[in-house]
Amino acid sequence: MSQLTDLLASLAAGTVTLVDLTNKLTTSTPSLVLPEPFQSPLPFALEEIAAYDDRGPVWKANDIHIGEHTGTHLDVPIHWVTGRDGDDVSELPLNRLIGPAVVLDFTAQAAADPDFLIDISDIKAWEEQYGTLPENGWALFRTGWDAYSQDQERFTNVDETGSHTPGFTADCARWLAEETTISGVGVETMGLDAGQAGTLEPEMPMHYYLLGNNKYGVTSLQNLSKLPTKGAVVVVAPLPIVGGTGSPARVLAFVEPS
Ligand code: MN
Repeated sequence: MSQLTDLLASLAAGTVTLVDLTNKLTTSTPSLVLPEPFQSPLPFALEEIAAYDDRGPVWKANDIHIGEHTGTHLDVPIHWVTGRDGDDVSELPLNRLIGPAVVLDFTAQAAADPDFLIDISDIKAWEEQYGTLPENGWALFRTGWDAYSQDQERFTNVDETGSHTPGFTADCARWLAEETTISGVGVETMGLDAGQAGTLEPEMPMHYYLLGNNKYGVTSLQNLSKLPTKGAVVVVAPLPIVGGTGSPARVLAFVEPS
């Protein structure tokens, strides 16, 4: 059998399964709200243009309204000023969008402190046990935030001092960008950076370093609890928007159930 026939046979037999890591797109899907004078991306909306009626006697169709950075989506180098000469979302090498995935679990720390920042030492401790982060792979970080993925208020966790959601220290962001060979990082929160990352130096360090080092970020992931710590293969499938700084993406994982 060919390798692809083998894969299909494994899927049919259930010895390889697919896990959807994508948040559903609804009018409740949380969406970034930037302070004035900045313009916020469009939240998701469907606009019906036909429904088996005068507008379309035998068809139904919608227009979609959505920002590049709404819902489960990919951030690519040109999204940040540090990556401005890099690839847009239509130019990404496809073999960097599919790769091995590892899952690092910081659910307990994020539950105890919504402003928890993952540091280099946390990832080094994980690597002691499981090996180095995979070349051309995706480092996926669990924080439990996917539980709030259809609740704008809980997802963004905003108070008078701003948003409080977990993320990474600036040192850790630089280390992930410069000292690893991953394709990118995946998180469960709305953005790659912590809610309070505007107070770090540089501000928004994950965007600053990762995108400036030709690495990618995928956000608002779901179902990381259904993946093994190591051994899954992830496919990130953004729309090839020419000039796009990111795109809503369907993110799938191939898993061998244990
Ligand atoms: Mn984004």
